[in-house]
Amino acid sequence: MSFSNLGLSEKVLAAVAATGYTTPTPIQEQAIPHVLARKDVLGIAQTGTGKTAAFVLPMLTILEKGRARARMPRTLILEPTRELAAQVKENFDRYGAGQKLNVALLIGGVSFGDQDAKLTRGVDVLIATPGRLLDHTERGGLLLTGVELLVIDEADRMLDMGFIPDIERVCKLVPFTRQTLFFTATMPPEIRRITETFLHNPQKVEVSKPATAAVTVTQVQVPAGREAHEKRELLRRLLREAKDLKNAIIFCNRKREVAVVHKSLQKHGFSVGALHGDMDQSARTAALEQFRKGELPLLVASDVAARGLDIPEVSHVFNFDVPHHADDYVHRIGRTGRAGRTGTAISIVTPLDQKSMVAIEKLIGQSIPRAEGDYEIQAESSDGTERPREARGRERSRGGRGKPQRGRDRERSHEPREARGEARHSSETRHASEARHASDARQPSEARHRSDDKRKAEPRHDARQPVPANNSHVPSIGRPEPRRHREADAEPGDHSHLPAFLLRPVRSPAGA
Ligand code: AMP
Repeated sequence: MSFSNLGLSEKVLAAVAATGYTTPTPIQEQAIPHVLARKDVLGIAQTGTGKTAAFVLPMLTILEKGRARARMPRTLILEPTRELAAQVKENFDRYGAGQKLNVALLIGGVSFGDQDAKLTRGVDVLIATPGRLLDHTERGGLLLTGVELLVIDEADRMLDMGFIPDIERVCKLVPFTRQTLFFTATMPPEIRRITETFLHNPQKVEVSKPATAAVTVTQVQVPAGREAHEKRELLRRLLREAKDLKNAIIFCNRKREVAVVHKSLQKHGFSVGALHGDMDQSARTAALEQFRKGELPLLVASDVAARGLDIPEVSHVFNFDVPHHADDYVHRIGRTGRAGRTGTAISIVTPLDQKSMVAIEKLIGQSIPRAEGDYEIQAESSDGTERPREARGRERSRGGRGKPQRGRDRERSHEPREARGEARHSSETRHASEARHASDARQPSEARHRSDDKRKAEPRHDARQPVPANNSHVPSIGRPEPRRHREADAEPGDHSHLPAFLLRPVRSPAGA
């Protein structure tokens, strides 16, 4: 099958050819003809399957006819996060380069004035996060009655973030006769209900079973103590000892934890960025760009900020925290092993995470091997430092200072919301819905939080030099090895790129 059989316009085919893509992905092959036939589509697909082009390419073809009117966009795409919205816009810029289309982005953290001006000029494609979109409609600056085609992308993530009431409101503001394209990775009952209410006789397109982990990802769980400092120390060790580690995303469950782990790794000399929803938009974009370019090989991230991001080559994913929702595990490890490459996903698992691990293993239908070996982190030494055992002999003369602060990570209080930037001008109801992302809602308070990194910890042998742009010899994340391990030679189940200590005999959970 080639793109030319799908019914796309000449301009769009030329743009696709210019990107170098020769064969449509399964979701593109199946969805594009339905979209062009103006049918509603229910697409069950995860990111990484090419689903963005599956709606962008036919939309570009459809939009070649007709013109935009002031304040009345012709098409509307809803995305759960600003990053995803920006990513979709990049797709329009790339594939629509030969067309004079006005594409506008309505996301939080950007001035209303500029967005208003764009809307006034007339918009062919409006890409929006729900909160900011409704803010504009409430202010009267935007009419959705001209929308011919509505895309709801990452619907299950919208559900997680509490956006469903907003989605329902938007669906009622667009004409009944519109065409709707609805994408979700999973079909929980609430999503099923929405599709039954708002889609008209949809064509169902399913490209891979929801919640299956890519076979090219080697997964392992590493037991850890429940104290956060023990987990941080273990993480550093895993990062240092991981072979073939080119770059990694380190997932935490809470924004506060993202900040703590980020700061901790920085203090220990790692070149690391952070991505969470309380950062302002420019900081988020900058962190992502630096990670994409390899200037910062490590990125500590929350689920909401990282969901669906298209970062083509991530060699490792670390779960600093085991996610509370099994679905999130699949999404997280889906950041690696993309497009047939191999990847490694390492989860730090405390005794409190056992229940979540059982749910994850049930969902992915396989057990995740448990590492055995000398990974245990001893209780803090008398000087309050948290050094790995093997380092202690070497560094006896470098005593630390400061006090252990056990238990501080367990203190929680409410913190600002993931979508605060976006919701700043919104009505209270919407504030509430945008704030409802469960795993990010409760955080340790700023006042109570004091990073243990104030203490003198491990010797900073990683912190000596800035990271070169190509990051080919970043000392802090282990020596890169020839790419053959990751790409061509490694088979699923090939563990050659795991640290040796993770490969010692596996102890069965029952015997643990
Ligand atoms: P998505 O699922 O939309 O996030 O896309 C995942 C990645 O696949 C992106 O980097 C796309 O640029 C890429 N991609 C999309 N369509 C194709 C195709 N037909 N052939 C190869 N790569 C593609």
